[in-house]
Amino acid sequence: MSDITVYQPDLLYRLGRFHEGSSLQVGADGRVLPEGPLPQGARIVRLPGRALLPGLVNGHSHAFQRLIRGRTEYVASGSGTDDFWSWREAMYRAAEALNPEEVYTASRQAFLEMVLAGITSVGEFHYLHHQPDGRPYVERNALAHEVIRAARDVGLRIVLLRVGYARAGFRVPENPRQRRFIDKDVDAYLSSVEELVREMEGQAGVSVGLAPHSVRAVPREWLTVLAGIRGQLPVHMHVAEQPKEIEACVAEYGLRPVELLEELGLLEERFTAVHAVHVTGEEARMLGEVNASVCACPSTERNLGDGIVPADRLVGAGARLCLGSDSQATVDLLDEARQLEGHLRLSRVRRAVLDPGHGTVDGLAARLFEMGTVNGARSLGLPTGALVPDAPADFFTVDLHHPSLVGASPSSLLAGIVFGMDKAAVREVAVDGRLVVRDGQHPRMEESGRDFHALARRLYS
Ligand SMILES: [Zn+2]
Repeated sequence: MSDITVYQPDLLYRLGRFHEGSSLQVGADGRVLPEGPLPQGARIVRLPGRALLPGLVNGHSHAFQRLIRGRTEYVASGSGTDDFWSWREAMYRAAEALNPEEVYTASRQAFLEMVLAGITSVGEFHYLHHQPDGRPYVERNALAHEVIRAARDVGLRIVLLRVGYARAGFRVPENPRQRRFIDKDVDAYLSSVEELVREMEGQAGVSVGLAPHSVRAVPREWLTVLAGIRGQLPVHMHVAEQPKEIEACVAEYGLRPVELLEELGLLEERFTAVHAVHVTGEEARMLGEVNASVCACPSTERNLGDGIVPADRLVGAGARLCLGSDSQATVDLLDEARQLEGHLRLSRVRRAVLDPGHGTVDGLAARLFEMGTVNGARSLGLPTGALVPDAPADFFTVDLHHPSLVGASPSSLLAGIVFGMDKAAVREVAVDGRLVVRDGQHPRMEESGRDFHALARRLYS
């Protein structure tokens, strides 16, 4: 018996299109093998009625915010014109209340929902660090460890983007509700990151990145230090999400957020601007010029009323778009892709705004799918996103007989998946060649749901 596993779906998505009768060979190390004749003694896994595609990469997530879904969709009485109050209040309440085990429980449920939707990697923008009174835990990365454990327990690959958070904002009084987020200075922040990198060394499916929270929460002095660090770690940051952030940045520095980051030398290829909703043409040019990534999170941007990511201008300028589930308002990365394009159609009053113009039926779908796979992987510094030799065999399958897909031809299938598929059509999901979801079921589903339900009851009853 060899240690090679061969997955045989009806259709396999490789090199930008579906191939009939093609199979995916995976070595004992969980990596994709070059195409070739069936090796002797290989384990064959037949997947009839399925199409197999590279796993989706979720570029931006705050896992614990899964808890506030459905609890923020109203304007609180007495909050005046502050329509953001109900959301912020619910987020702080959850952030203040959770003990380490509960951070695990909340995160695991979010990650489970991701895996079931075909997501195989997540960039977790993690900002919950300290005890409720603000003192660091004895093991200072304790909460990051819980989040990582939650991801690995459901089989998800994780990049822990360790957030740096210094203050409530420019000329904004200290906010005690942010105590769990704040590190005392940039050295304390960086030493926690370094420790986490050391602790995770050699851990399969886990890596670490830098995440200065935003120009609001991180002052220039921190950003200057971070810009001086020449390393391999990806750098993610919330940028230009809401107009207030732009106003405050201009008031403090006389510059808009992207202009400030450019001046400080933070913009480069491994930099990802999360959101980039309110950017000028010049700021788009700055991001594009260095091939930076932009992570759009349309379901959250829509939910919070942030605005529309000008993805057409950003892509035109050379930025690489990827996608994130952010606040977990919904968890469906293909729907994020659909919404990114959909919002642009509504705003530009035309169709197929992001179509690369090849005149093919699947050109636009392929571009959007790339955002949810290859571009996300690049933004997180992962070798995943495409099923090419030596890449980790991270993939998902879809049921070709599912009511939302039936009738598609190989040439229309990708557009059918990107623009119309119900995520319930996802059937198998594998990370490093190992199936973590089989026939739409995950072995931890029941346990995770039960624990999460009990936690939600404790917090909200
Ligand atoms: Zn975010």
